[in-house]
Amino acid sequence: MKTKDFELIAQSFFPNETLEFFNDGTQFGFNNMVDKEIKKIGYSVNLTMDIINQAKDASVDLILTHHNVWEDHFEMREDCLKALRENQLIHYFNHLPLDSMPFGPTGSFAQALGVKPIEKISSFEGFYFGIVGEFKSPISLTQLKEKVEKVLDHKVRIWKHHDRLIKRVGIVSGSGKDLESLHDAVSLQCDAYITGEKKLSALLYSKHMGLNYILGSHTFTELGGMKTYVNLIKDKMDETEFIQLNDEFIE
Ligand SMILES: [Zn+2]
Repeated sequence: MKTKDFELIAQSFFPNETLEFFNDGTQFGFNNMVDKEIKKIGYSVNLTMDIINQAKDASVDLILTHHNVWEDHFEMREDCLKALRENQLIHYFNHLPLDSMPFGPTGSFAQALGVKPIEKISSFEGFYFGIVGEFKSPISLTQLKEKVEKVLDHKVRIWKHHDRLIKRVGIVSGSGKDLESLHDAVSLQCDAYITGEKKLSALLYSKHMGLNYILGSHTFTELGGMKTYVNLIKDKMDETEFIQLNDEFIE
């Protein structure tokens, strides 16, 4: 399948309004676009030199990621773009459109945790990146920690701010450290909030409001959504091989 056909498939799961809204070249699209035959696709959350080297070693034609290598990454962006060119590797990324979809990082993470979404939170210009949802029956904070660690496959950190059981949780995969999203979760009576990043003001606010804060990792709270997206694409690209490129666990 040609790169152009891949592009049509990769965009086919999103409403036109979503693609039009985020169509500024930084939120979804290509780096080093070359129209050629795509036989092998490698996917990950981030684009780094390590990911590019894995792709090169595995003879991948196209790297599919959630994050772009952003404009504000200075030398890292330049070096990655240069390595893509030198190795004739195409990079396709889908960031905020994917974050806004029910099958995206938050939705996939919630499903893996067994949380049924009941409300959307973490809004941006009419798009939502987070959910509030409920477990079938209440669980302890220890049980929740174990569940999250099992899904993410790494240890997580907890800031405990009450002793009640947990039925309702706010989830924002990736970076949900903004106080608006936490405020949404508090307003909707969440017992815990799960995200992939923290900052001091978020921890101070969650303590003040008595909301348990569960810190996973930005990358691994988003990996499930990336896998869901890959599976949707894969279903429409029979001839193409897909492999996972391994994101490093940093935080
Ligand atoms: Zn992210």
